[in-house]
Amino acid sequence: MNITIFGAGYVGLVTGACFSQMGNNVQCVDINKEKVKQLNKGKLPFYESGLDKIIHDYNQNISFTTDIKESIINSDIIFIAVGTPTKKDGSSNLDFVFSVAESIGKYIDTKKIIVTKSTIPVGTTNKVKKIIGQGIKNRKLTIDFDVVNNPEFLKEGKAIQDFMYPDRIIIGLENKKLKDTFKTLYKPFSMNHEKLIFMDIASSELTKYAANAMLATKISFINEMAIMAENLGADINMVRKGIGSDSRIGYSFIYPSVGYGGSCFPKDISSLISFSEEKDYRPNILSSVQEVNKNQKKYFFNKIIKRFSNDLNGKEFGIWGLSFKPGTDDMRESPSIYVINKILELGGCVKVYDPKAMQTAKEYYLKDLEGICYCDDKYDVLDNSDGLILITEWPEFRSPDFMLIKDKLRKPIIFDGRNQYDFEDLGQIGFEYYQIGKNNKWN
Ligand code: NAD
Repeated sequence: MNITIFGAGYVGLVTGACFSQMGNNVQCVDINKEKVKQLNKGKLPFYESGLDKIIHDYNQNISFTTDIKESIINSDIIFIAVGTPTKKDGSSNLDFVFSVAESIGKYIDTKKIIVTKSTIPVGTTNKVKKIIGQGIKNRKLTIDFDVVNNPEFLKEGKAIQDFMYPDRIIIGLENKKLKDTFKTLYKPFSMNHEKLIFMDIASSELTKYAANAMLATKISFINEMAIMAENLGADINMVRKGIGSDSRIGYSFIYPSVGYGGSCFPKDISSLISFSEEKDYRPNILSSVQEVNKNQKKYFFNKIIKRFSNDLNGKEFGIWGLSFKPGTDDMRESPSIYVINKILELGGCVKVYDPKAMQTAKEYYLKDLEGICYCDDKYDVLDNSDGLILITEWPEFRSPDFMLIKDKLRKPIIFDGRNQYDFEDLGQIGFEYYQIGKNNKWN
C-alpha cells in the first residue's frame, strides 16, 4: 500500500519503519525541514533501539519529505501522527492535527482513508472529518473519503518490539467495509493470533486514554502505598511482592518510584480530565493520580534535603539517569528535571550521566542551567560528590561497583528513586541508603 504518515516523531517514524519493512511504500512528511534533512542523510532525531537499522535496511521503501501536497496525492492511506501537546489549561493542543486535516482537505484528489494515530480527545476524529470535508467543499469538488482512529500503544525504548508484536490493534471506524483493508495492512503484525479489535471511533479514542490512565493509576497507587509504608514502619518492597503475587493484581506497574514522567502519561491524564470536565464530569480518581504523582517527586527530594539538614548550599551530587525511563533519550517530564532544578535552586551543583540522554539534556532540558557538569562515565559523577542520586533505572546502574562508589563519594550516601539495590547489603558495606517507601535507621 502507499502510506503517508504526517509527523516524523517517535510514533510516525516507528510506524513508518515497521510498515516499510512489511513491503509497503511509506512517505513520512514533517514540517520540520531540519529533521527531514537529517533523516534523508540517515540521521534519526532521537534514540530508539533498532529503528535506525530498519530505516537503513528498507530505505527503498521509506522516504522523508516536507512536500505536503505530493505526499497526500501519492497515498492510499494517510496516518496523522503529529504531536498533541498539553495547553496551559491542561487540555490538548490539537492545532497540529487540525492543520494536517486542512492540508488534506486542500489537496486530496481521490478516495482515501485518513487515520488519526495521535492520541486525541474523544470527538477529534469527527472534527478532522469535518475539516477535510469543508476543504473539499471549498474547492467545489466531491471526493469521497473515510476517517478511522487507530491509537498507538508503543512504549519508547521498546517501540519496535511493541509495534511488531502488539498486544492488540485498536481500530475505530464507521465504515465497516474497511475492516478487510485494516486486516490486510496489519496482517504481518497479527500472525500468531488475531490482534485487531474493531469498534466505534469514540470508544477507540477513549481506549487509548483509558489504558494510560489505568497504568498511571497503578503507579500512583503503589507510590501512595510507599509513603504509607514508610510512615508505618513497613517495607514497600515486601508489600509489592506480597500483592503482585496475587494473579488478580500482578507485578506490572506496581514498582515504587520517584513518579511517572514522559510524553504520554502526564499529558494524557491531564487531557482526559479536561475533556471529561467539558462534559460536566470531574474524574476524582484521575485528579488524585495526578496529585500523587506531583507529590512523589517532592517526597523523594525531601529525603535529600532532610539528610542535609535543609542546607544544600555548596553541596555536590552525582546524578545517574536523566531520561524519563530507560531505553530512550526522551526527557519530557522526567523527574530528573525537577530534582536537578531544585538542587541548583538551593545552591548545590550536580554532575550528571545518562547512557543516551546527555545530548537531549545539553541541547534542551538543562540547556540554560548553570552548575551542571556532564560526565562521560557513570563513575566520574561521584568524584567529590556528597551523594549519588539514582533517577532512571538503566540496566547499567543495576549492579555497579559499590566499593568504587564508596571510594569516590565524600560520604557513602545513595538516594535511590527506583529501589534498585538491596537495603541490607548496602548497609553492611557502610552505605547510607535511601529508598522509596522504606523507613531506615538514618531517618
Ligand atoms: P513527536 O513530538 O515526537 O513528533 C511529532 C512530529 O510531528 C514532529 O516531528 C513535528 O514536527 C511533526 N508535525 C507537527 N505538525 C505537523 C504537520 N502539520 N505536518 C507534518 N508534521 C507535523 O510526537 P510523538 O511522540 O511521535 O507523538 C505523536 C502522537 O502520538 C501524540 O499524540 C502522542 O501522544 C501519541 N503517542 C506517543 C507515544 C510515544 O511514546 N511518544 C506513544 C503513543 C502515542
